[in-house]
Amino acid sequence: MQLLSSQITGFMENSSWIRKMFESGIALKKQYGEDAVCDFSLGNPDVPTPAMVGEILHDLAKETSAPFTFGYMPNGGFPWARQIIADLIKKEQGVELTADDTVLTCGAAGAMNAFFRAVMEPGDEVLAVAPFFVEYGFYASNHQATFRTVMAKPDTFELDIDAIDAAITSNTRALIINSPNNPTGAVYTKEEIMKLAAVLEKHNKSNNRPIFLISDEPYRFLAFDGIDVPSVLPLYDYAVVISSFSKNLSMAGERVGYIAVTPRMDSRQQLINGLMLTNRILGFVNPPVVGQHMLKAALETQVDPSIYEKRRDAMAKVLADAGYDFHIPKGAFYFFPKAPGGDDVAFCNRLMEEKILAVPGTGFGGPGYFRLTFCVEEEVINRSAEGFKRAIRSVA
Ligand code: PLP
Repeated sequence: MQLLSSQITGFMENSSWIRKMFESGIALKKQYGEDAVCDFSLGNPDVPTPAMVGEILHDLAKETSAPFTFGYMPNGGFPWARQIIADLIKKEQGVELTADDTVLTCGAAGAMNAFFRAVMEPGDEVLAVAPFFVEYGFYASNHQATFRTVMAKPDTFELDIDAIDAAITSNTRALIINSPNNPTGAVYTKEEIMKLAAVLEKHNKSNNRPIFLISDEPYRFLAFDGIDVPSVLPLYDYAVVISSFSKNLSMAGERVGYIAVTPRMDSRQQLINGLMLTNRILGFVNPPVVGQHMLKAALETQVDPSIYEKRRDAMAKVLADAGYDFHIPKGAFYFFPKAPGGDDVAFCNRLMEEKILAVPGTGFGGPGYFRLTFCVEEEVINRSAEGFKRAIRSVA
């Protein structure tokens, strides 16, 4: 008996290498014990949520005089929560925007779905720079859009502006960039973003609707070596930032995210009104009451990026000592080395024999590479060293 649509059956078969590896990991851990497996497959932050975020739960539980409500709220989120986002964006992006230019969403994932639902017509295209976060394609197809990708420059994974220019068609409705990048660790420069904006503006002149630039930024907090993550909102009339507190507060399960629209956009209230409607009619509305209060409690804090930086350095040493070909990530918590022998799926299977879990680049539109996440203790990274050496030797 067929219960699922053929599209979803197809997605389930082909979709997530990350999930496949995660599930293989569970099986390996059962067989050999947790400590025997080095699991670099999942981008699920393990650094504890800052204590203040947990403490708010005690405060809320003690709250008896009920200024606190669990009822419905305005579709854009609590007005004070929207103001928090506006203040944050002003600081991060250097633009003057108000609470009205923001919408609270269920994570970055909910934000992107609400956005596509609001702007896509059948036949429209979403373009993303590859390698890319694999769920973008699903979000686009949820809302009748065709998903297409354009490769970043090989090895450095910088934006290939000429390739993006060539890939845009009259159906292109949105371009997604993600910096710091999952899976490559690339951070785009201001110069790259400005060139990109110029290309989009050129195409807008010959179109009766603009191309939106979606900057997906959940890893903004995690740029290494003092590097700056440039702001997109001051640079383009149709830019939106989509982000969340899943990574910087290790709060992915609370689903607190947002969309912020550049104040350069004319008639942006129309877009915001559309987003508030789609947020609601998609059923998830905005983040739950408790999550918004946790955000308020956490304002002045975040997980310590130096923990990730130390792990990055440890993993760079493991890979360099073993002779892998890789670029040191400028941000986010991922390495994207070249797969020795060229076949990323075969190489990840080989790593699995060493009880090391990695994800083939194919799953991110980057065949020939593999992804390693450093959301694990340094001890696990160091313990993987011999396995990485044996694996590369066996294909060299
Ligand atoms: N965008 C990127 C690049 C991600 O890596 C993730 C999650 O891993 C998301 C979006 C979705 O995050 P959220 O938990 O905010 O929905």
